[in-house]
Amino acid sequence: MEDQGPKEEHITVAVRIRPFVPRELANGISSAWELPGPTSIKEVTGQRFFVYDRVYEQHVSTEKIFDEQCEKIIWKLMEGFNGCIFCYGQTGSGKTFTMHGSRKTQPGFVPLTIDTIFAYIQQTPDKEFLIRCSYLEIYNENINDLLNPNGLNLQVQEDKKNGIKIVGATEEVCSSINQVNSLLYLGETHKQFASTEFNSRSSRSHCIFRIIVESKSRDPRLKNLNMATLNLIDLAGSESAAVHGPTASLNRTREMKYINRSLLTLATVIMRLSDKANSIPVPYRDSKLTRLLRPALEGESKVVIICNISPSIDSYDETLSTLKFAQRAKKIKQTIKKNVVRDSKALIMKYEAEIEKLQEKLRE
Ligand code: ADP
Ligand code: MG
Repeated sequence: MEDQGPKEEHITVAVRIRPFVPRELANGISSAWELPGPTSIKEVTGQRFFVYDRVYEQHVSTEKIFDEQCEKIIWKLMEGFNGCIFCYGQTGSGKTFTMHGSRKTQPGFVPLTIDTIFAYIQQTPDKEFLIRCSYLEIYNENINDLLNPNGLNLQVQEDKKNGIKIVGATEEVCSSINQVNSLLYLGETHKQFASTEFNSRSSRSHCIFRIIVESKSRDPRLKNLNMATLNLIDLAGSESAAVHGPTASLNRTREMKYINRSLLTLATVIMRLSDKANSIPVPYRDSKLTRLLRPALEGESKVVIICNISPSIDSYDETLSTLKFAQRAKKIKQTIKKNVVRDSKALIMKYEAEIEKLQEKLRE
């Protein structure tokens, strides 16, 4: 049987090198990398050479990367295909800049996604949509709800029919860009409350903004309902524990252990998926991150991995490790499947029934 999805790359791996930051410029730090073309990166010394789907040089805007890599995923999401966009890289490499950015100066993928979703809804009057958002953090292998300070250590439930569910996670129905922005703001506030050292805490946790889209035709003869989820993931810093030296505190060591384990599991999962001949089970269950990402990596989703790197010679080892991770991820091949929901359990049906009831009452 034919796939319902188009025959195109299902996983894209792009590398984004950030510009030097003022501290690096002040110290006159030199660059370890050069970009010979739009898909390649090479060591300045000429020793190593890597090729990806795309390599973005220092002055490319987030908006351009979004247009090239993410916009089509949002359109697919609106048609019922899962998606997963994540930023991987060491702390300070530009992950949060890419994922969140600043709405006013250089908006990141999250605000650009929200704008694209609401523009799509406006341009598609023949369909009705219901948008729900969650904002989660995985810290020390606990999933916490960034929209509810009491929502700690939430559990993942696997359900063959509906995929992955995070039990108790707030899923706010949003009908405007402003509403989503308020949620993001609330999430950031809770992150800050969670720690006195906001920046360091945020680089030690994986932050996942999830958007669930339900849609159905306004034509009553067309009963099918599509439901799909997009995960926007700002991963914890990928640097190894060694960077922090032997004097790291016990808490720090524990955090690093969990981060290393989840990123290692992510790398293993990706490696196994890229090995066509393998019959070894894929260890999704070894970390919360991969359990959550499973539908995204398993073949029902479109995936974009942005590997953020620093140009600096100081970060050479970490950059090399990111480029190697990116190289493994590049080998994934998968098929995508549209999520068609045929029962009436989805929220949009419930809402419709409620609206009908209210309208009936008004008519009485
Ligand atoms: P990470 O989230 O990976 O720890 P950040 O996104 O916080 O890294 O970026 C580190 C610093 O580099 C920040 O000061 C950020 O503003 C700056 N930066 C990152 N990427 C870019 C870019 N493409 N253009 C300009 N500044 C950037
Ligand atoms: Mg960050």
